[in-house]
Amino acid sequence: MFKEQTKKKFLLFYVILIYVFAFLFWWNYLLYSKIEQHYSDLVKFESLKYEVYEGGTSMDFKSTEDFQVLNEKFKRQKVMILTEGIVFFIILTLGMVKIFQSFKQEIAIARQQKNFILSITHELKSPLASIKLMNETLRLRALDKEKQNQLIASSLSEVDRLENLVENILIAAKIENDQYGFTKEALNLSVLSNQIVTYYKERKEMDLSADIQDDIFIQGDKTCINSILNNLLDNAIKYAKNSAVTITLKQTKNKVELAIADTGPGIPKEEHSAIFNKFYRVGNEETRQAKGTGLGLYIVKQLVQFQDGKVDIEDNLPSGAIFKIIFNI
Ligand code: ADP
Repeated sequence: MFKEQTKKKFLLFYVILIYVFAFLFWWNYLLYSKIEQHYSDLVKFESLKYEVYEGGTSMDFKSTEDFQVLNEKFKRQKVMILTEGIVFFIILTLGMVKIFQSFKQEIAIARQQKNFILSITHELKSPLASIKLMNETLRLRALDKEKQNQLIASSLSEVDRLENLVENILIAAKIENDQYGFTKEALNLSVLSNQIVTYYKERKEMDLSADIQDDIFIQGDKTCINSILNNLLDNAIKYAKNSAVTITLKQTKNKVELAIADTGPGIPKEEHSAIFNKFYRVGNEETRQAKGTGLGLYIVKQLVQFQDGKVDIEDNLPSGAIFKIIFNI
């Protein structure tokens, strides 16, 4: 249905495009031939006038000043029509290219939004279903203490997942509506990073190591930095499963560099720029294993920019991805 509608819209666009260009060429050609015709009629008329009143020949007329004036005027008109035609052609082409690009963009966004609805439904349904199942098991079965603790821990981790998801949707909506309020305060990024590392080590199953310089300060928003690190570390868990992850924080002269490196499969070069777009996910929604919404890296980029920073992806050799954030201080 969506594809059919898109095809129809594109077809209509091409038909209008061909019509407009054909129209432009036709009117330009018509105008050009009309002034040519007008010029030759005028030369004939003036030449006749010259023969009658001055007694000369049509050849003599061509050497008169009147003919030169006529000729110059014709040349100017020719140049004017051609230049206007070319300028109009360029403006029309640029306009059409822009319309075509935004048309394609709209279609991509519509497709991604459709995927987002599909993935978000799954993302909400599956943790809710497993929380329900675990709670029912706890209620109905007489389990030993260790089993109970295991179920409670799994349940809490699903709640974490839901919380992060809702948090990301909320942040994305706030960014979109320019409602994200930031506080700029002196933040000890070293302390904050260490706290997050401790939290992840305690709560998540991951091989996380840290190389964090002490007392590195930036002017920024604590919630933002938390959200940036949460999203990057969650992605490392999700996409670079069981791989070693390192978080590095260091300061050079006037820059602070925060990097999260994993040793997973990495991200293909051709995806590096698109990956930060809203709803963008690598690969195909039907075949993709890891679930998600395509909001994580969009939020990371926006929040880093709000802190006057910059985020980049590099390849981690021999394999993996490095997300490098630079804050100017
Ligand atoms: P989501 O995880 O919800 O799909 P993100 O915006 O966080 O959305 O990530 C966008 C895409 O980037 C993911 O679909 C994934 O393919 C890719 N990606 C992100 N982080 C990593 C990583 N550490 N390793 C490999 N691929 C990654």
